[in-house]
Amino acid sequence: MTHAIRFHQTGGPEVLRWEAVAVGEPGPGEARVRHAAVGLNFIDTYHRSGLYPLPLPSGIGLEGAGVVEAVGAGVSEVSVGDRVAYAGGPVGAYSEVRCLPADRLLVLPAAIDFRTGAAMMLQGLTAAYLLRKTYRVQPGDAVLIHAAAGGVGLIACQWAKALGASVIGTTSTPAKAELARAHGADHVILYGQEDVAKRVRELTGGEGVAVVYDGVGKDTFAGSLDSLRLRGTLVSFGNASGPVPPFDPLLLSQKGSLFITRPTLAHHTAKREELAELGGELFDRVVSGQVRIEVNQTYALPDAARAHVDLEARRTTGSTVLLP
Ligand code: NDP
Repeated sequence: MTHAIRFHQTGGPEVLRWEAVAVGEPGPGEARVRHAAVGLNFIDTYHRSGLYPLPLPSGIGLEGAGVVEAVGAGVSEVSVGDRVAYAGGPVGAYSEVRCLPADRLLVLPAAIDFRTGAAMMLQGLTAAYLLRKTYRVQPGDAVLIHAAAGGVGLIACQWAKALGASVIGTTSTPAKAELARAHGADHVILYGQEDVAKRVRELTGGEGVAVVYDGVGKDTFAGSLDSLRLRGTLVSFGNASGPVPPFDPLLLSQKGSLFITRPTLAHHTAKREELAELGGELFDRVVSGQVRIEVNQTYALPDAARAHVDLEARRTTGSTVLLP
């Protein structure tokens, strides 16, 4: 028997339980991975709370890094003994060992350790598709990145800076603002205290930003629309403060023929080639040192509930890993 975090009802962090589970042999197309580290992501809290419903009882977690122990029939992507990491696919990453589709696994470059691998895949692939696919950042673009000191935020700030953008971040505290500045943000707005759109206009000579990357949702949505330049793009990609309420598309014409999109990582990595392409770009940025992955919190995997409490209370910065 091995162990995993599972939950039988939706709710607060207390619903997460450390349980004995049986993990069999991998089926066709699957690999069995022994985790060295597991990534914590805000989406895990949506699964746990029921905002994104899952059939119950359920495992939880979408990101991990470890060693391939066994492969099922027809697997060509990885071999036994490979050091691998993944993001997405079926939930169940909060586990010591698991089986999952082998076509979701990428072999980790030797220069990337397991903790970094587990910390970077979901947030890093997200930064990759947001900046390279959803709205392709151009040198000289002004971009606004909310929650700039968070997991996606710290990676996106560094990457956007490396692409030649002028980066404006938002954070809740001065200490987080300092961290964002140390990771590529040219300016940081304290969104609990300042008028974001007004500050953005001041910082961009009245023009507004080309794109807003908004993973905060409810609390920032209106200010994000007001921060855009003519024909700018609002990328609404998360709900850390709650889901965005319904809105009237007429607003988009009134505020400057704006674009809005609500993308997911799953739809940008549905094909193995897409996953490999984005993963390759991410690995290059990390190995070259242009993007540093900051693992600022670690917890023992059985303590996952405590990690959820801290993430939801805005006590974390950068990335967090759970250690089996
Ligand atoms: P973070 O590490 O960024 O944590 C969330 C941060 O959001 C907090 O640290 C906090 O920063 C900020 N925040 C603002 N309001 C609240 C609130 N009311 N409660 C809690 N936090 C708040 O998380 P991740 O990097 O894992 O994810 C960031 C966002 O991106 C999430 O919304 C997530 O769901 C989304 N996401 C979407 C993906 C997609 O493909 N669509 C993929 C990956 C992530 P501060 O204290 O500075 O305000």
